[in-house]
Amino acid sequence: MTPILRAAAFAAAVLLPAAQAVAQSLAQSSSPAAPVSPPAVQASRPAAPPAASAAQQAALDACLARLRADAIARGVPRAAVERHLAGLERDPSVLESLDFQPEFRTPIWDYLAGLVDTQRVDDGRAMLERWREVLDGVQARHGVDPATVVAVWGVESDFGRATGRKSILRSLATLSCEGRRQAFFRNELFASLRILAEGHVDPAAFNGSWAGAFGQTQFMPSTFLEAAVDFDGDGRRDIVGTVPDALASTANYLRRAGWRTGEPWGWEVRLPEGFDASLAGRSKRRPLADWAARGVRRVDGRPLEASQTASALLLPAGSAGPAFIVLRNFDAVYAYNAAESYALAIVHLADRLRGGTPFVTPWPTDDPGLSRAERRELQTLLLARGHPIGEADGMIGSLSRRAIRDEQARIGLPQDGRAGMKLLATLRRDPPAASR
Ligand code: CA
Repeated sequence: MTPILRAAAFAAAVLLPAAQAVAQSLAQSSSPAAPVSPPAVQASRPAAPPAASAAQQAALDACLARLRADAIARGVPRAAVERHLAGLERDPSVLESLDFQPEFRTPIWDYLAGLVDTQRVDDGRAMLERWREVLDGVQARHGVDPATVVAVWGVESDFGRATGRKSILRSLATLSCEGRRQAFFRNELFASLRILAEGHVDPAAFNGSWAGAFGQTQFMPSTFLEAAVDFDGDGRRDIVGTVPDALASTANYLRRAGWRTGEPWGWEVRLPEGFDASLAGRSKRRPLADWAARGVRRVDGRPLEASQTASALLLPAGSAGPAFIVLRNFDAVYAYNAAESYALAIVHLADRLRGGTPFVTPWPTDDPGLSRAERRELQTLLLARGHPIGEADGMIGSLSRRAIRDEQARIGLPQDGRAGMKLLATLRRDPPAASR
């Protein structure tokens, strides 16, 4: 899972990795299940979990046997319970993910560099073209514009290419019977059984993230039951195999989260000299007119409208970095995955898909983040130098970070294990040593 920073310098923003966002939503028992974890930013995990011991498997079997009556009482058809709730193999790796505390925090400029890169902008524009008719229909029915829908699709599942490989039933069965938050995951397990009973998704393709998010929208099962829609009219709400259903389901989710048709999400802005940065924070809402009166202007120089529209100021990297005024639609995107960095990635990607430019104000760093292509290039250079980091897949995991620290030590950079432009530029002009 890609971690996000917690440094005091960035205290203005609450930035969470997708995994932490899930954990936080789990910690707030009253909060609805949010869709989860953009797989595009997940670190790679071991493909095959270690075999469960016989005793642990027997305990899981006994637990699932006890859950059968609960599932039926909660409205899951008996046939689905009998077919899908038996014979599930315990997956201990999901318990590790539940308790995973990332040891490395990603600055927001790294997070955004990977999610909103040239490749995703180009892919997104191609998808806008390819699915234009469907997206126009989705906009007409659900009121959310094509670029926003496609941006969510691109970040959640790389346009359907990365939807997660874990068995949803196996993950949720394990999490329903072991670990923290069993009640939360039982609710998701029962929801997943209802999805299968209603025939929306092919059981053989019912895979996703460790926490149970699945399909091209990465909905949790309970979110699916509330928000997924059958756009192509075949009777199935298929967010796994049917792109129109997935796109419409995303739009329907955003509309239910408060999306206002035709309103912007907000703008990058410029603050006047000496502006009081303590006014920043997504919950510190003021009328747009109030920001305008304080001298806040859009980066293109245009004034903010002097209206009573509720809005907030975000300073994701403190007052030295880009500043944003956000409106209600930013909050609707935030509802999709409770992290401001995530919401900023979505709305910025949507702007870029519409032809918008990168942020005008640079991030406060002399060592910018890397796109996915540049991460793969860095990994290829590390491999060429003999570092055993596996595949150059663009996912900077613990092996890559260890190799990066080794190279940072060698060339006199701070050994923080971060994949940044300074290291990439150095390795590009620095041929590998003859023997390593
Ligand atoms: Ca359908």
